[in-house]
Parts: sequence; structure tokens; C-alpha cells
Amino acid sequence: MEIKKERSLVIIKPDGVQRTLIGEIIHRYERTGLKLVAMKMVVPSAEQVERHYTEVNPQWKENVGKKAIEGYKSKGMTPPSEDPIEIGNAVVDRLKKYMTSGPVVAMCFEGAHAVELIRKITGGTEPRTSDVGTIRGDYVLDSYQMADTDDRAIRNLIHASGDTEEAEKEINLWFDKDEVINYRLVQEQMLYDVNLDGILE
Ligand code: GDP
Ligand code: MG
Repeated sequence: MEIKKERSLVIIKPDGVQRTLIGEIIHRYERTGLKLVAMKMVVPSAEQVERHYTEVNPQWKENVGKKAIEGYKSKGMTPPSEDPIEIGNAVVDRLKKYMTSGPVVAMCFEGAHAVELIRKITGGTEPRTSDVGTIRGDYVLDSYQMADTDDRAIRNLIHASGDTEEAEKEINLWFDKDEVINYRLVQEQMLYDVNLDGILE
């Protein structure tokens, strides 16, 4: 895969749409030079959400369960179960409720280091601890503590692909082949071309 053609999936989750942050979120990614190559607003089905989290990366459920158990223990709390899969299933159930609650905006961005750059701009999973200057750090205040107390998913505005392999599978899950558009942006000459001929008259 050509480096300049790397792709990542971004989903503005229902809270991002309800907080009227669609434009702001797109702006943050777009201004880096990454190119928007696909976009749609949909109300996801529970099946789509399940596939997104469990089919794309079969290890994800267990990993998220392990991470959550460690999280409980580091706060001196007793996890509801010691079985990572059981905890992972509970996380997926909460995500299904959250992600199917209203429209989301699914997008595909393309450009050099798309996955890494988008993760950097998005910020860490928990808004409470995600860095200042990231979308999750700047626009929302949720925490694992609040989400776990209320038995709901953490509201962190965005999903962004974790690596290039995950990205490819996720893009295929959310978009038909012909919904992802190959085109050139005028600014790509400035971003990528070796020679900057033709600017001076
Ligand atoms: P992301 O790639 O930064 O969105 O994070 P992950 O892929 O690890 O997790 C996806 C979603 O699962 C998050 O947005 C959370 O809703 C949920 N999640 C992840 N880790 C945890 C955790 O440790 N505890 C709880 N309760 N939920 C989690
Ligand atoms: Mg993830």
C-alpha cells in the first residue's frame, strides 16, 4: 500500500452529532491535509455495532475486558467479574445501546500516516485523561468512573481506527467499494510533490 494512500475510518458517535460537533470534528482532521474520501450519516443497527467491535478484531473483546479489570483494580475496586470475555461482552452491550441511540457520521480519511495522525488528534479513549488539544480532551468530560457507575458506555465523541489492518476491515464494513472515492485534491501538490514547479509565474 502506497504511504500517501493510507486510510482510516472515523465515526462521529451519537454524542458528537447531538453536541453539534460534526463540523468542528471534521475540521480538526481536514486541516492536517488528510483527504475525506467517503462520508455518510446512518443510524447503525446493533448487528453492525457488534460486527464493528468483534469481527474486525477478534481479540478486542478479551483485551478490553482485561483492560477494564485492571482499571477496576487500580482504583481499588472489585471488578464485577474476573473473566475478561464476560466483562468484554458487557462493554459491547453498552456500546450497542450507545451507538444505536441516534445518527452517527461515518467517514474515511486518506493520506500519509492517516491512522496515526487521526489517533493523535482524537486523543486517548477516556476524555477525563486524554490530552489537552485533542478532540476528546477538549470537547467532552466523561470518565470510566461515571460510565461504570451508570452502567453505560463512555461518551467520547469518536471512533477512530487503531491500526491500518483494523482500518481496512472497518472501511469495508461501513462502506461499499463505490462509496469510497478516488480523487485528487489541488493541495496534494504542496503536501507531496517533489518539485514545486508552476507556482511562480
Ligand atoms: P478507542 O479505540 O480509543 O475508541 O478505544 P478501544 O477500541 O479500546 O475501546 C472502544 C470503546 O470500548 C471505548 O470507546 C469505550 O466505550 C469502551 N472501552 C474501552 N476500554 C474500556 C474500559 O477499560 N472500560 C470500559 N468500561 N469501557 C471501555
Ligand atoms: Mg479502538
